[in-house]
Amino acid sequence: MRFEGISGNGRVCRQLELLEQSGRMPHALILEGADEPAREELARFLARWAVCVSSEEKPCGTCPACRKARSGSHPDIYVAQGANGPKSFHVDVIRTIRADAYIRPNEAPRKAYLLLGADAMTAQAQNALLKLLEEPPGQVLFVITCASAANLLETVRSRAQTFTLEDGEEEPEETPAADLAKKIASAVIAPREYELLCQTGKLAKDKELARGVVGRLLQIFRDACICGFSDAYSSAEEKEALLLAQRLPRARLLELLAVAEQAKDRMDQNANQNLLATWLCARLRSDLHEQ
Ligand SMILES: [Zn+2]
Repeated sequence: MRFEGISGNGRVCRQLELLEQSGRMPHALILEGADEPAREELARFLARWAVCVSSEEKPCGTCPACRKARSGSHPDIYVAQGANGPKSFHVDVIRTIRADAYIRPNEAPRKAYLLLGADAMTAQAQNALLKLLEEPPGQVLFVITCASAANLLETVRSRAQTFTLEDGEEEPEETPAADLAKKIASAVIAPREYELLCQTGKLAKDKELARGVVGRLLQIFRDACICGFSDAYSSAEEKEALLLAQRLPRARLLELLAVAEQAKDRMDQNANQNLLATWLCARLRSDLHEQ
């Protein structure tokens, strides 16, 4: 992905790039955040990405599709939003989209539907949208923007992947959790398993620490995946991520990310701390032993 003209939201951009690189881009995305212009900017970027016909990084910015998208005249980009005010985004708009979405794109690889300010959607409009997301047409990308995904029906949220935009880019600060997360990431590829056992053992007693560590591990493993999948992108935030990317095959990087995601789920479900620490150690290393 070529993020020219996109300011801030580095984390979300890296997540999107990872999804693209690994061929897992969802057909429906929710961009939530208080900054309305930033939401719309990213949504329009994704529309250009969806229609660009370049064989290089997309959106290339120079192909005929990119130029039409820029000038707002691309026939495969459809932008919808309500009038001002709550419940001003009506069902007839979604019905129009449904009638159109199953027809093949005019000229682009896929059609892009931007639904801006979805907080204003009526329940009827959201239910119509849900039907569309449940039976997604091929070659279509839905980008839904809103202040908060919590304003949308749970059923709609569950059918799309939500990305939370940041209020201004923050530098990650050096905390005990960040420090321990780096040590754990290094220990994953250390010669002896004992190293990892020592580090993950520290998670057994301190719930807050464990929560912070798992959050940072998710970032490190995500960064490692991005480095591993994109030769062009080599500026990982942490050197631990870069090392993992250099030492491990892509499939293993994705497994590490999956382990961290599962660890977060377990924490959200209030898993026993001792068991979580042991499980994490076993999973982070066992994936390596199986190679
Ligand atoms: Zn292009």
